[in-house]
Amino acid sequence: MMQNNMNVDESLYIIQPPQRVSDGSYINSIEKYKELYNESINSPITFWGEQANKFLTWFSPFTDVSIGNLSQGDIGWFLNGKLNVSYNCIDRHLQENRDKVAIIFEGDEPNRVQKITYYELYLQVCRLANLLLSLGVKKGDTVAIYLPNTPDAIYSMLACARIGAVHSVIFGGFGVEAIISRIEDSHSKIIITADEGMRGGRSIPLKKNIDSAVYHCKFVEKVLVFKNTGGNIQWNAEKDLWAQEAMQEQRPYCPPVQMDSEDPLFLLYTSGSTGKPKGLLHTQAGYLLYAAMTHRYVFDYRDSDIYACVADVGWITGHSYIVYGPLCNGATTFIFEGTPMYPNASRYWDMIERHRITQFYTAPTAIRSLMKFSVDMVEKHDRSSLRVLGSVGEPINPEAWRWYNQYVGQGQCAIVDTYWQTETGGHIITPLPGATPTKPGSATLPFFGIQLAILDPQTGQLQEETKSEGVLVLTQPWPGMARTIYKSHSRYLDTYMRPYPGYYFTGDGVSRDQDGYYWISGRVDDVINVSGHRLGTAELESALVGCSSCAEAAVIGYPHDIKGQGILAFVTLKHGYQEDEQTITLLKMEVRNTIGAFATPDRIIITPSLPKTRSGKIMRRILRKIASNESSPEQLGDLSTLAEPETVQYLINKVKSN
Ligand code: ATP
Ligand code: MG
Repeated sequence: MMQNNMNVDESLYIIQPPQRVSDGSYINSIEKYKELYNESINSPITFWGEQANKFLTWFSPFTDVSIGNLSQGDIGWFLNGKLNVSYNCIDRHLQENRDKVAIIFEGDEPNRVQKITYYELYLQVCRLANLLLSLGVKKGDTVAIYLPNTPDAIYSMLACARIGAVHSVIFGGFGVEAIISRIEDSHSKIIITADEGMRGGRSIPLKKNIDSAVYHCKFVEKVLVFKNTGGNIQWNAEKDLWAQEAMQEQRPYCPPVQMDSEDPLFLLYTSGSTGKPKGLLHTQAGYLLYAAMTHRYVFDYRDSDIYACVADVGWITGHSYIVYGPLCNGATTFIFEGTPMYPNASRYWDMIERHRITQFYTAPTAIRSLMKFSVDMVEKHDRSSLRVLGSVGEPINPEAWRWYNQYVGQGQCAIVDTYWQTETGGHIITPLPGATPTKPGSATLPFFGIQLAILDPQTGQLQEETKSEGVLVLTQPWPGMARTIYKSHSRYLDTYMRPYPGYYFTGDGVSRDQDGYYWISGRVDDVINVSGHRLGTAELESALVGCSSCAEAAVIGYPHDIKGQGILAFVTLKHGYQEDEQTITLLKMEVRNTIGAFATPDRIIITPSLPKTRSGKIMRRILRKIASNESSPEQLGDLSTLAEPETVQYLINKVKSN
């Protein structure tokens, strides 16, 4: 394991892009990034107009580049332009790349591999689109998709896009309650699902969950079922239809519908780490452009690359960086049904070797869990094909960043810590592989066209100094932003536009260092105020993870008579360490030495696991409630997005007995 860096100011630590990455990359120096960035800010209309014509194929041109402002929340891009997203992701590549592999699928079992060319993708999407039309789906209708992470999910999304239906993908790990609330909110009469999913050698009863949901949601008319495992399922002859069989009867050509730039493309409910899920609505052209452009520049995507994002299509990361960005760019995109631990903790590295993957994109939660194992698990596989390693979802602790860089990338890859949200459609703060010098733990600098500002959380005052901290806001609209919350525009305004009038509020705390680099400190609701010191959870947790015993940490504040808030840390230990006085003392010392005496945790609770969303994010909201003994079901609120509900009960008992 690496030395940790006691008392080191991380912001002074700079790593230059490796030469082998800069060579041949689109944006190959920081000067070039700055030049283009300035152009995007100083002449946004020209900049975005040019990009929209470069990245997208239009049926008829747009008349205006943009309209609206953040205060009104009436944003539109590429007005009156007509295009079709599925045409952009498939048809236009057929002339030159008909036989290029569009999708590499790897199932839960490593020997289940399938390669799908652009032509095959086209045929499947056309058949499914025609099937949806035959079931009466019309432009603007919502279709719910509850599938495992397989190509069927990609066919379904693109088939909807082809006919102008609005898809609402529900992550395959969600249970019945979460499904019901989402299909009720979007009123989806058609559901696309599979018999079962497979993850880590276990089957997931997708159809069974849908049966229970449909029982409650009488408005559902048809359930299209893809055969994935061939497992036994209940059949409702009135509503159920085998997808593959029915698709065979459909004509393999379906004309793409001409969509307006601002017609809805999809709804996606956020993971819910902060409360009731919000159905964010993304539109056609601006979203697609932003996904494609960030995919090209942030992963430095080149034509012969084998690009892999191992997220799930049920999250925005899967939407933008498994499906829309890569396919719009004519890439080979990888989709993986399984987990990093199955059949063993080498799975990712084994896939990288077997498929000669060039870009690999995952989340800090996965990296931290793989760091627990011996580095042999990584090193026994050939990773020489890799050029770019991405991270998304949470702040990545410097310790995890360095492990990823040193052991996975062998110091030869660019690490891109990409900061963004479901709401932003694509990356907004991120390094560019060939250009941006990186600092472990910082998402670095804004993407093209993104104007950031830092405000004082209480007064809303603009922090003009380079080195400053506060809440992160955006000052101008950008093409990839969500346009509304489905059927709740006032909630959209209340959540994003009204907290700091004139700005888009991210909800995240941030600091900017002397070089203008951004460091996300976590959600503002999670910030802890100890004796007047504002502490980000990211900083405290990184200090704990720097301790050799600590695998993962979640820190929250709780009411404290003297300090205002006290610090409570929940910690999971690495293999070989146990819960005792010494371990706890060393953990406290680590934080004290790294950040300062005022930041020393008041209490540390050791736990076998932390409550996380299904997408792997720590739910500090739940931990806060548990810590303040507000742990009745009503007080805990919506738990439907929680991955392991038993963790919550364990912690409730432990906190009570402590
Ligand atoms: P909800 O909004 O429903 O509570 P969520 O915010 O977890 O859910 P997402 O849109 O998937 O849903 O996540 C976006 C958030 O994830 C960001 O606002 C930020 O807090 C965090 N995040 C994502 N990427 C990074 C990153 N690279 N560094 C730091 N934080 C990140
Ligand atoms: Mg959020």
